[in-house]
Amino acid sequence: MNIPDNQQLQEYRARAVAWLAEHASRYSGAARQGLSFEEDVALGRKWQALKAEHGYAAITLPKEYGGAGCSELEKIIFCEEEMRYDLPLAYFGISLGNPVPIMLRYAPEEYRRRLAPPAIRGEQIWCQLFSEPSAGSDLAALRLKAERKEDGWVLNGQKVWTSWAQLADWGVVVARTDPTVPKHAGLTYFFLDMKSPGITVRPIRRLVNDPDLNEVFFDNVFVPDVQRLGGVGEGFKVAVETLMIERYAVTDESGYGPTLEAFIDLARNTRINGVPALQDGEVRAAIAQAFIERQGLRSIHRRAITAMAAGKMPGPEGAIRKLLLGRTRQRLGALAVDLLGADGVRMDEHASSLRDFTRSYMDPILRIAGGTDEVLVNTLAERILGLPQDYRPDKGLPFNQS
Ligand SMILES: Cc1cc2nc3c(=O)[nH]c(=O)nc-3n(C[C@H](O)[C@H](O)[C@H](O)COP(=O)(O)OP(=O)(O)OC[C@H]3O[C@@H](n4cnc5c(N)ncnc54)[C@H](O)[C@@H]3O)c2cc1C
Repeated sequence: MNIPDNQQLQEYRARAVAWLAEHASRYSGAARQGLSFEEDVALGRKWQALKAEHGYAAITLPKEYGGAGCSELEKIIFCEEEMRYDLPLAYFGISLGNPVPIMLRYAPEEYRRRLAPPAIRGEQIWCQLFSEPSAGSDLAALRLKAERKEDGWVLNGQKVWTSWAQLADWGVVVARTDPTVPKHAGLTYFFLDMKSPGITVRPIRRLVNDPDLNEVFFDNVFVPDVQRLGGVGEGFKVAVETLMIERYAVTDESGYGPTLEAFIDLARNTRINGVPALQDGEVRAAIAQAFIERQGLRSIHRRAITAMAAGKMPGPEGAIRKLLLGRTRQRLGALAVDLLGADGVRMDEHASSLRDFTRSYMDPILRIAGGTDEVLVNTLAERILGLPQDYRPDKGLPFNQS
């Protein structure tokens, strides 16, 4: 990969800032107020198409498939700037983050040329069908069954927590093809047409009423063998590779919740026993703690970027950031809800989690999706501190005997 120098990156950032300043307001904030879900998705598709036209839609994907062919650092810079706006990006985050890049690595050329460009332009959406009722953190425990037929596979079973499955045209799916070998060895990875006969998508209602999550049921769904990604029995390896594509996920500094400055403003403008909450010891300690964590996380972020600029892999920085940001967001959110008193229990479901403390507190997404807090703590304990491995009683046992 061609790694741009600092001067080139500064110029890239300046161009991105100017481009966003020129276009983003027509697709963000006030432009989204009062839109129905369908209208918001349509606005998102338009924003995606505009980005594709200007080389910002799939920054690291190859040009021949509709990407911009730029580096990971340029992608991080654009994301940092784009996150300053409240844009309809969520519908495409998973699609272009993992499924489309992994399809580009493994699918036959004919499929790559046909499927990647419309996904990059936002005309089509992909979903990631990994999690199941008994296989979230332990992905290798999944049970969706794929049986070999003459020219393909027949899938039966269930997936859960599938973001945007109701919008998806295509999906990547991991299924169990051999239950007689240890759990990691019996899986195979496919991509499939989400409109295939036998697929049923049912919405899951969330506390904050976001319409993103679904259950997906497979009833004798046929997938041609040409849509297998990787070898038979190599599905776990391809799944891990999918999750590693995003070498360093850029997270908003406030964990996609209201900023520390917004919390300070709230504390300044609310009173505890007639005195501004900003003078309360517990509130001041929470602000100090959040500030210290933010400074530390900024340093960790800089270290990851510096490693990448030197052509190295980032280390555990992303996991540390996600863990701490998710916890800080909830801690400040809980305190903010207390400060708001009776108003704190009124949740405006149309408000943005970026601005509304109650909504942000009620939606601890960063603490579950992409690895729960507990699992991240385990990973950091094992990989950084070198502590003994978690107890794994089914290690080495055939799946159907564990
Ligand atoms: C908003 C959102 C969007 C999502 N989108 C998708 C998607 O598009 N596609 C998809 O495939 N999945 C998706 N997921 C699912 C997500 O990947 C899982 O929720 C996550 O991996 C956790 O799995 P689980 O919910 O099955 O919990 P479990 O793994 O069952 O965990 C339950 C509890 O046990 C704890 N636990 C489990 N194992 C350990 C351990 N070894 N040590 C300590 N504690 C442990 C967990 O931390 C948790 O508290 C989404 C989830 C959310 C919240």
